[in-house]
Amino acid sequence: MHLGSGDWICIDSCLDRETGRPVALRYLDDIGVDPAQALRLVIVTHWHQDHMRGAAEVFEQAKNAEFVCSGALRSDEFWTAIAASEAERNHEQTLSEFARVFSILETRSPDGARPGTAAPIWAQDGLILWERAGSDTAVPVHIRSVSPSPGARRLGMKEIGAFLPRVKETKRRAVPLDPNQQSVAVWVQVGNTQALFGADLENSSDVHIGWQAVLRSPRLPSGQADILKVPHHGSKNAYCRDLWEAKLISPATALITPFASASRPVPNEADCARIALHTDRAFLTADPRGSKVKSGDRLVERRIRTTPRRIRQVVGKTGHIRVRRQVLTGGEVEIELFQGALQLTEYIVRSRS
Ligand SMILES: [Zn+2]
Repeated sequence: MHLGSGDWICIDSCLDRETGRPVALRYLDDIGVDPAQALRLVIVTHWHQDHMRGAAEVFEQAKNAEFVCSGALRSDEFWTAIAASEAERNHEQTLSEFARVFSILETRSPDGARPGTAAPIWAQDGLILWERAGSDTAVPVHIRSVSPSPGARRLGMKEIGAFLPRVKETKRRAVPLDPNQQSVAVWVQVGNTQALFGADLENSSDVHIGWQAVLRSPRLPSGQADILKVPHHGSKNAYCRDLWEAKLISPATALITPFASASRPVPNEADCARIALHTDRAFLTADPRGSKVKSGDRLVERRIRTTPRRIRQVVGKTGHIRVRRQVLTGGEVEIELFQGALQLTEYIVRSRS
């Protein structure tokens, strides 16, 4: 996200399907922005692979940025739990991504710093992550994390505690820490424009965690957001009606990042309909169902046709939505769609025919 006046932040990372490079670096390269000069923050909302592939590479290039991750990652026990967790299938990749970030932090330490004191910013509800004062040439910027809540963090610590083996006790099965409930949702205010990046934070009937905790926090910014990165790929478990009604302008610009490679791709039909009730300004970075399989190999094609399971193609170009607004004059929110990104209303019509 460009904050104006050459300041940028990066929230989460994934790899470009064509080049294998982190998409954020490819984009900045394309438009001639130097990540070493421009990036102020590299934020990884939570430790799921679909949010952090290539994050260490982004941080390596972002020589003047701070690294932000969930406050749930604080304790050393966390790493033990993650490494041993059977629920975390890709834990080796996750660990190596974070391990690389930590070693980059160490190499950036100035002379005289004690080993082990280099650390990321541990985000939690109400933490100011970055600010810029307004001037003749720049609008003021306030960036703060609005989660994880104190309740989610306490729950995380308890889960870790329950997992760790005690003396004379057999080792217990790893407790599945819920990374989504520990994820870092970020509220960005640039001049009069406000954007909420919902990460994968879920909704819960428990008022101490998830979106209910965010809405009840006295540290939540008082305004309404113009732009929402829809939480958890638009899935039902992250939907919070109160969030849409109380904290977003109507109609808000909503950005959805489908999870097409899941066994049940999200958003599904009901998810799309639910979001469309709130806004006609929703957009998808890609078709959630993937695209038709074209392998170019006859044998493979025949094999696919005769296979009883449905096969979707989830490779192809990485879709992209660009949202722009002239913040100094407060103009319209403008949308550009690239490489398969599409408007939600158009997708709903298309998927019915
Ligand atoms: Zn996700």
